[in-house]
Amino acid sequence: MKLFSPFSTQNVAPFYSLSIINAVKMAFSVRASSSAHLARNVVSNARSSLASKRSNGMGKKVSQSIPFRFQSMSSTSRKSSVTVQAADGPVCVVTGASRGIGAAIATQLGAQGCRVVVNYAASSGPAEEVCKTIKASGGDAIAVQANVAKQDEVDALFKAAVDAFGEVNVLVNNAGITRDTLMMRMKLAQWQEVIDLNLTGVFLCTQAACKIMGKKKPVKGRIINITSVVGVTGNAGQANYSAAKAGVIGLTKTVAREYAGRNIQCNAIAPGFIASDMTAELGPEIEAKILTTIPAGKYGQPEDIAGMVRFLALDPAAAYITGQTIHVDGGMVM
Ligand code: NDP
Repeated sequence: MKLFSPFSTQNVAPFYSLSIINAVKMAFSVRASSSAHLARNVVSNARSSLASKRSNGMGKKVSQSIPFRFQSMSSTSRKSSVTVQAADGPVCVVTGASRGIGAAIATQLGAQGCRVVVNYAASSGPAEEVCKTIKASGGDAIAVQANVAKQDEVDALFKAAVDAFGEVNVLVNNAGITRDTLMMRMKLAQWQEVIDLNLTGVFLCTQAACKIMGKKKPVKGRIINITSVVGVTGNAGQANYSAAKAGVIGLTKTVAREYAGRNIQCNAIAPGFIASDMTAELGPEIEAKILTTIPAGKYGQPEDIAGMVRFLALDPAAAYITGQTIHVDGGMVM
């Protein structure tokens, strides 16, 4: 069975193939939420931390509250370079932010003083932990439960964002799942579930965000979609996932074209093999094979993806970048 390089038979002995399918599955997957159809939005916390931070003097470097604008702030130099009042930064909705890449994205944005909506499907505890981390680093956050494959829950997610923070400036479409099997064995339900979340969910959230971004004048906004290298290369065993991720790239370009003149940038990030709890289960032998196929010779970290999101979402230098798919993959696809 041929698998796409770097997990392909070109580089990996054939007897590894089944294990490698599992490896791909783990590397590019999101665990299915057992309660992915939960409808209740739970808005925890909100502005109390903002009030307390203001009262304890955080954000003193800014004498006046400046209207929202995209700022570039290094997390390491935050104390000396903060130009936005603490927890008064851009409002960022991050889908699937309770763990993995989404949690790293939410945390990095929060560390820049952003007000972050931490969306999750089932993991309320981890989502609350992400919120705590964000608040401790000078941002603000709420956790909102919503299955972003469902329109009514997406509507409720964005309503919660506006109720808590008044606007939405940045959307990061990160939530995703896999249901891997060879194309000929794939059930319609497996196909549909992945398309519904990984592609339709991106469409629904983008539509909801653009509505809100378009209301406030002057209009501005940044949308970042987390796609995958397999959306560019395809991958045996991932017809549903690679089709959805390729669709996200097309959707990204279309949204970029429709909104470029209205100051909303839309870009995609294509991660390669990112270390996670799941990839830790691979075992040293398979890991060693996989590493030989990554030019950088190591897995990426969730923070590598988060750093690119931070740039595209907040940095003024990213204002002229739109419709692009940026690979963060250690050179896997070039
Ligand atoms: P994780 O499995 O670590 O986290 C998945 C997140 O998505 C969780 O927060 C989960 O919430 C949430 N989620 C799942 N279903 C839904 C739903 N229906 N509605 C809202 N949120 C949901 O995933 P990763 O961090 O590994 O992946 C994140 C993104 O990056 C995905 O789009 C994935 O396809 C992409 N990607 C990942 C790669 C990798 O190597 N890890 C490589 C390439 C792309 P909860 O915890 O509540 O279930």
